[in-house]
Amino acid sequence: MSFPVDLHLHSTASDGALPPAELVRLAHRHGVRCLALTDHDTVEGISAAARAALDLEMGFLAGIELSVSWQGIDVHVVGLGIDPGNPTIRDGIAFQQQQRAERAVKMAEKLERKGFAGALQGARSVAGEATVTRTHFARWLVEARHAPDLQSAFKRYLRRGKPGYVRAEWASLSVAIDWIRQAGGRAVLAHPLRYPLSLRKLRRLIGEFGAAGGIGLEVVSGPQTFDRTELLAQLCDWHGMLGSCGSDFHSPDQAWLVPGRIAAFPRGCAPIWRDWPELEPYLASAA
Ligand code: AMP
Ligand code: MN
Ligand code: MN
Ligand code: MN
Repeated sequence: MSFPVDLHLHSTASDGALPPAELVRLAHRHGVRCLALTDHDTVEGISAAARAALDLEMGFLAGIELSVSWQGIDVHVVGLGIDPGNPTIRDGIAFQQQQRAERAVKMAEKLERKGFAGALQGARSVAGEATVTRTHFARWLVEARHAPDLQSAFKRYLRRGKPGYVRAEWASLSVAIDWIRQAGGRAVLAHPLRYPLSLRKLRRLIGEFGAAGGIGLEVVSGPQTFDRTELLAQLCDWHGMLGSCGSDFHSPDQAWLVPGRIAAFPRGCAPIWRDWPELEPYLASAA
């Protein structure tokens, strides 16, 4: 079973394993008919993905997943339907890229001190054209046999509090939302249950998100449990948000995560893709 709408996917433009066009074709094979490419802090993959989607007659939204610093933690804001050429978001992306580049140098220094020589070169070569994310460090740690697999690399070295972790100073919530809106997009709070926040604190985050111009919550992120969907739908209702959904697909190596194979969209939650004229022709099966 798959859902025809997947509005959260990563390509090699950030930390995904597939080039944008291949990603789009894979999503199509899995029954996705309407998708958004949402790479971390970059729009480099958008034009190739848009072309592939056009070839397959799929609905396509240019997207992005912006990292935001909020009360000491990293929060992810997805922008959907942005104009990737908009100068405001371009400047914003340049700022985020700068933070990424600086953080990568500091992370590598810490990892080198831990005895992992060549961390910066390693992560950069794994990243290729993309700017370095923690996933690239994780892949390098696995390749260099410092960790058995990606999960362990994160758990041992890259998570908050671990030896390779460096806190980045991303854009603030309101600034990131502003970039998205200036670029004509709709701002969605990504995977709201993945942050280290109590429900009370999460509701404060959603309140601020809405006040800053955010209009959607990702009520489905991959194959989640029914309880989680219910809670997210409740949050949507309480805060007057629209619902979005996506797989957060990164790589075919993660066999449990496939484009379009996501939990059922909650009834009673207004989908963010409704009233989106560009998408309507592709959405007959997702009404
Ligand atoms: P960054 O934005 O560079 O801090 O990297 C964050 C990315 O790392 C996320 O988008 C995930 O793709 C990935 N990530 C974070 N934690 C884990 C984990 N435990 N296992 C695998 N990937 C992870
Ligand atoms: Mn990622
Ligand atoms: Mn995320
Ligand atoms: Mn993501």
